[in-house]
Amino acid sequence: MASVTLNKVQKDYGSLNVLQAVDLEISDGEFVVLVGPSGCGKSTLLRMIAGLEEVSAGEIRIGERVVNDVAPKDRDIAMVFQSYALYPHMNVASNMGFSLALRKAEKGSIDTRVNGAANRLGLDKLLARLPRQLSGGQRQRVAMGRAIVRDPKVFLFDEPLSNLDAKLRVHMRTEIKALHQQLKTTSVYVTHDQVEAMTMADRIVVMHDGVVQQVGAPLDLYDRPANAFVAGFIGSPG
Ligand code: ADP
Ligand code: MG
Repeated sequence: MASVTLNKVQKDYGSLNVLQAVDLEISDGEFVVLVGPSGCGKSTLLRMIAGLEEVSAGEIRIGERVVNDVAPKDRDIAMVFQSYALYPHMNVASNMGFSLALRKAEKGSIDTRVNGAANRLGLDKLLARLPRQLSGGQRQRVAMGRAIVRDPKVFLFDEPLSNLDAKLRVHMRTEIKALHQQLKTTSVYVTHDQVEAMTMADRIVVMHDGVVQQVGAPLDLYDRPANAFVAGFIGSPG
């Protein structure tokens, strides 16, 4: 069953056509990476799935439901950004529980979910700390914890590791994948980093100038690039 479906999705900003008729089916539990050069429309596509941008034409479905007119908070998705966007004055536990508190969840159930997520992410001992008392990797983990507590149907990641140094970035790739293997939540992960895409993806979507150039497993793209752009971008010999 497709968990996220894009049907001829288009985006224009005034006269600027950013995305042209994008078709994509993402299966339940799949980890799909959108990759392409800066400015090709990756964030725009992700923001439309999240409901933070309206589509200019076409249809987006999450599960069976058409969500074009569904508010972001009702889409059953959670988004992880590169900037962490943690509240500086709230401790880790409050940051992680905030979206549940907004939804008027009971304190007991918020605590249970926050503790469960903290345990998964190795944040148990850091729940009382403020964001500024954490390392970059720990902050990124809190940002993921905030997404996990909601138990969403879909995770959307927009270059979540781009603020981290190279070594930590490699480590966090492994952590995110391990988490995905535990939770099996459908994930759409945006990056401009080819290696990140090749190492993390079940399937890669290569974008260029608002057009999907090719969709396939990392090795398929490497061995059988559909065109010169994909070959050059993925770095395959073909
Ligand atoms: P990427 O995430 O792949 O780097 P974006 O989706 O952010 O690319 O942007 C795609 C294109 O859309 C760029 O040319 C960008 O300048 C343009 N764009 C993005 N957001 C807006 C906006 N709110 N208004 C006008 N143009 C935008
Ligand atoms: Mg972007």
